[in-house]
Amino acid sequence: MMNIKDFKLFRDKNYIDGKWVTADSGDTISVNNPANLKEIGTVPKCGTSETKKAIEAANKAWPDWKAKSARQRSDILRKWFDLIMNNKEELAQIMTIEQGKPINESRGEIGYGASFIEWFSEEAKRVYGDTIPDPMTDRRIVVLKQPVGVVASITPWNFPNAMITRKCAPALAVGCPVVIKPASQTPFSALALAALAEEAGFPKGTLNVITGKASEIGDELATNPIVRKLSFTGSTEIGKILLQKCSGTVKKVSMELGGHAPFIVFNDANINDAVAGAMQSKFRNTGQTCVCANRIYVQEKVHEEFCKKFIEEVSKMKVGDGLNEENSSGPMIDEHSLTKVEEHVEDAIQYGAKVAIGGSRHSLGMNFYQPTILTGVSSEAKITTEETFGPVAPIYKFKDENEVIELANNSPYGLASYFYSRDIGRIWRVAEALEYGMVGVNTGLTSKAEAPFGGIKESGLGREGSKYGVDDFLEIKYINMCGLDK
Ligand code: ADP
Repeated sequence: MMNIKDFKLFRDKNYIDGKWVTADSGDTISVNNPANLKEIGTVPKCGTSETKKAIEAANKAWPDWKAKSARQRSDILRKWFDLIMNNKEELAQIMTIEQGKPINESRGEIGYGASFIEWFSEEAKRVYGDTIPDPMTDRRIVVLKQPVGVVASITPWNFPNAMITRKCAPALAVGCPVVIKPASQTPFSALALAALAEEAGFPKGTLNVITGKASEIGDELATNPIVRKLSFTGSTEIGKILLQKCSGTVKKVSMELGGHAPFIVFNDANINDAVAGAMQSKFRNTGQTCVCANRIYVQEKVHEEFCKKFIEEVSKMKVGDGLNEENSSGPMIDEHSLTKVEEHVEDAIQYGAKVAIGGSRHSLGMNFYQPTILTGVSSEAKITTEETFGPVAPIYKFKDENEVIELANNSPYGLASYFYSRDIGRIWRVAEALEYGMVGVNTGLTSKAEAPFGGIKESGLGREGSKYGVDDFLEIKYINMCGLDK
């Protein structure tokens, strides 16, 4: 294996105002490979003053950036997309080394992340306004959409590339400069993206990446009046804190927060498809996504068949370092995450769940946990209401449609949901009844640049991707043209 430091795109400095810089203090934070717990490098430990500088640089870059035509901005975004695709393998390797996910999933994420840049480079040209008939004959109503201004984006470690591009591509495309605070566990993917953005020709200050103390950088981003929009992906807990902090300057916000996805298998489902969907939805990224299946509800008649086939598939999974092409499940991000998974499994067992497979840490030690299936899980168990964020699939048996809809909706979250059925009437009824921002019908994977990603209830505010994804970075301005009869 190549040393990450030899990679062309390895950067261990921050990118602020078009320059690669250290923290004012020179302090750094250490980044570890979750597969072997070894240090892979350090990044600057920046705080309030560096964040202010980044925000001011973005603000200085704003007038020129928004004055460019959509076509001009689109061309630069397109170059960035091409560079990412040309460097896909190296970006994927960096991602697996710092994040742990199997290399094939990393390759998939680089393509997925880049697809937002491609999509929004095209969509930027279609920021249409409107004209509205005025009630007075000498007047017209014109509606313009304009970039909101400096955008702050705070992103998590589970998708170190795509969560950045999904926010920054629409922001940049419509004319907003960005300040990005990546998760401290996975800064190198963000800095590699900045290196390619520099090469693509973004003017200095339009895209900035800052690493360091999350609360200090986050506080400045959420309270600085220059920042007009904060887009956050992470836990509901931190999202609520940021929402409060943003209220002081009434910023626009997008929040992609936690989820607790129901995954429902009806008697009339194609069971093989349902098993394949459950594998994908549950075990992708070692269960560490906000759209992973959290509660698998299986109808009585097919419960046995589904469980048997699901267990069989899980038994084939290979756990280990994600850089090894054979491994289908990597480590968890850290010890803290592992402890939460352990707690949830032990608690479910206390409430009567049976371990069908897995159920404990992996013999590899460190951050590895066995892919796990629990059956007969109680609605009282923590795993039924709290986000586990790990490779554990709890299965529940249900009797009828109304019962399962009620169970599925019984959550403060409302991000992703999934169900399998071949009955067209049921498909419409259930899809409409699920109180979730996203519903996968006969699929375990719904994320794509063309579709609006986002949640309702405590899962968030706003949408990312799709034609709706640009709205979050635009202000509506109405112009009343009067005196037209003179
Ligand atoms: P996760 O469980 O995915 O780590 P977090 O909500 O803790 O979710 O983190 C998501 C992002 O929010 C990361 O970039 C993290 O560094 C950042 N973050 C954590 N705490 C704060 C905070 N108090 N203010 C702003 N950002 C924060």
